[in-house]
Amino acid sequence: MSAPPPPAAVAPAAPPQQAPFPLTFTVHATWNKARVATLSLPHNPRCRTPMFMPVGTQGAIKGLTAQQMEDLDVDLILGNTYFLSLRPGGEAMEKLGGLHKFASWRRAMLTDSGGFQMVSLLDLSELTEEGVSFISPVDGTRMLLTPEKSIQIQNQIGADVMMALDDVVSSLTTGPRVEEAMHRTIRWLDRCYAAHKRPTEQNLFAIVQGGLDPRLRTMCMAEMKKRDGHIPGYAIGGLSGGEDKNLFWRVVHQCTSELPQNKPRYLMGVGYPLDLLVCSALGVDMFDCVYPCRTARFGTALADCPGGVIHLRSDKFALSKEPIDAQCHCMVCHEYTMGRLHQLACHEGGAELITMHNIAYQMRHMQRIRDAIKGGTFPDLVRYFIRTLHPKGDLPTWAKDALEAAGLPDLGLEELRQMAPPKEIPTPVQEEAKDDDEE
Ligand SMILES: [Zn+2]
Repeated sequence: MSAPPPPAAVAPAAPPQQAPFPLTFTVHATWNKARVATLSLPHNPRCRTPMFMPVGTQGAIKGLTAQQMEDLDVDLILGNTYFLSLRPGGEAMEKLGGLHKFASWRRAMLTDSGGFQMVSLLDLSELTEEGVSFISPVDGTRMLLTPEKSIQIQNQIGADVMMALDDVVSSLTTGPRVEEAMHRTIRWLDRCYAAHKRPTEQNLFAIVQGGLDPRLRTMCMAEMKKRDGHIPGYAIGGLSGGEDKNLFWRVVHQCTSELPQNKPRYLMGVGYPLDLLVCSALGVDMFDCVYPCRTARFGTALADCPGGVIHLRSDKFALSKEPIDAQCHCMVCHEYTMGRLHQLACHEGGAELITMHNIAYQMRHMQRIRDAIKGGTFPDLVRYFIRTLHPKGDLPTWAKDALEAAGLPDLGLEELRQMAPPKEIPTPVQEEAKDDDEE
């Protein structure tokens, strides 16, 4: 007589991620709210913060090799979960040994949840409590992205940092939808942690939502702080969507004041050099943005000059024998004149070269922010930056207010204003905002 079959195994609930996490975060120096720290991750024990993280589609920046990114001193690259789930797909990624092996990238990586692309790129996405359903652009079938599915794919990709799936609403949305999204983000966060299968190898960050409403932000952070033992790091989400900058910086200031001091804080989608400076002053540690790569495709180089950008397609650079920036150590500034780059940008491309310089600029910008915080010279850097990029006293009001709130009241702006009448410089990328495909 055969033995009775064993009782059906009950699948054990995955234990939620708990400290100790596969990261450490060590603050070395502060200047008011600004701080310099080392973020130690499985694939890079020495990520230096505040840091800018370039965005790559398939774990690499278009046109640049992994070695070139290392040479540019990049500590961490972002991968887009949505694009990776389409090509080559989560299972293929797992079989290929994860994104690090796939992209030959040895340093740290972070993946987003995939939700943002679905909501922003796909007209036919539909939201329920279960998840976001959408029509696959690959084969036209309806697919459902749930918190569990997002974490499953991110576990297959294997990045050092994963992001919880949140209910994303535009920062221009107001009314009850914002509160609903905040509460759903908390419910989905719990589902994300329950689904996380590699808690000793990958860190799952929570994303604070609540729109531009300080009350909702506080409620969201209070709920997350109850779960702090499971949360290795926090992101500030729902900003950088075209909202009033006077409201933007106040939300950042509020979040960096209320979030736990001992965990990294990541401000999503922010990357203009002025914003990096201001938000570092407000205590943000990590930033990502497609801006340096996207603007390069329009022939725009970042530089310490009035306005902060050089439009290389302009005829005035046609005969220039100068590099973009003589102080820059990147290969492009050593080997290419602006005249040559003008020709490339007008006729043959050259986006990879300008991208390389722009990433070098962002890395150098973050390095000088870190050096100034460490050296106690942060106000000097802020003054230098404002005088160089806004020499006519045309620093936007929001930035002035934010820097004052960060403890920098005396920036010499009045003196600058007396030199020339104030004039608002238009945001340099207005015309490029719709170019929202893969980076
Ligand atoms: Zn350069």
